Amino acid sequence: MTPYSWTLEAARTWATERGLPAFRGQQLFEALYRGQPERFADIAGLPKELRAELDAAGPLVPAQEVVGQHSQDGTRKSLLAFSDNKRAECVSIPTSDRHTICVSSQVGCAVGCTFCASGLNGVDRSLTADEIVYQIVHHHRRRPVTNVVFMGSGEPLFNYDTVLETIRILAEPRGLGMGRRRFTVSTSGVPDRIRQLGRDEPQVTLALSLHAPDDATRSRLVPLNRRWPIAELMAAMDDYSRMVNRRITLEYVLLRDANMRDDQARDLAGLARRYGAHINLIPFNPVTDTPHQRPSWDEIDRFASLVDAAGGSLTVRGQRGADIDAACGQLARKHEGPA
Ligand code: SAH
Ligand code: SF4
Repeated sequence: MTPYSWTLEAARTWATERGLPAFRGQQLFEALYRGQPERFADIAGLPKELRAELDAAGPLVPAQEVVGQHSQDGTRKSLLAFSDNKRAECVSIPTSDRHTICVSSQVGCAVGCTFCASGLNGVDRSLTADEIVYQIVHHHRRRPVTNVVFMGSGEPLFNYDTVLETIRILAEPRGLGMGRRRFTVSTSGVPDRIRQLGRDEPQVTLALSLHAPDDATRSRLVPLNRRWPIAELMAAMDDYSRMVNRRITLEYVLLRDANMRDDQARDLAGLARRYGAHINLIPFNPVTDTPHQRPSWDEIDRFASLVDAAGGSLTVRGQRGADIDAACGQLARKHEGPA
């Protein structure tokens, strides 16, 4: 693994284990997040012989961008290739006051939701901490990153330790110094890990991908629901909401004729009220090889009005980057093969 997998403490330990003063490790750590180095040779503060030695030993950065696509709305999607040539995408979403990065936590996804491109071929492997950290660093070069959402490919709670390590690295004041509240972990629902997240990182925002308030529908859409049905998931959410003060988000992808009945709108609002959660309605972004259809704006409005009337606080998520397949759920392992 590259130095992007290090906490500040690990960087200092690395230095002392090599017989260098600890501040050399700190110097290296700080340089990773400032000067945008490509090689150790670019880190001016380090002794020249050390830089040459490190460059000979391996790469400084864990990934290279192999495809970069720009959307008309400013969204930018990058396909990164890692050292074993596995690939994953990350998306930069700029707005007037934020720069949000949507990161992948795994190559592919084991969950296999019926509407999502990431899970179509299962999971290949989990990403390492440096591979996740670098997705942010890569886009930070253009404009300072303010928010990180774990909403790219992969189930972050199936790569739990690494995701937490990533947050710790990015929160380090001598690096990017990002506040815990600027991270959102989105999950398809792993009860014990949800509880653990509440204990370990109560300031991080949790987004739960609900997509249906009843087991019959949810088990069809999100196969994980067969293992952990809604009652079990909600028991974990009860525990979680007792541990944290952050507002929970419920994500709900809108699929024509699949999860948009009137009673489902009301039950969704009921669940949101139970946790004081905010509902994010996400109109389905088309993915080939899925059986689903995007609802019309009339259907979306109708469902949203029913949720609203039943007391659910909601927003309908805009479709950023759809012209480059960078919208939610459209991230896949495209362009496999040599760079
Ligand atoms: N695996 C995690 C995080 C990645 S998916 C999870 O499922 O929460 C991030 C969000 O994108 C989820 O809410 C997911 O349901 C949504 N999504 C997936 N495919 C989509 C699609 N085709 N259209 C709209 N949203 C989608
Ligand atoms: Fe995996 Fe999330 Fe896609 Fe489901 S929606 S397949 S959990 S990435």
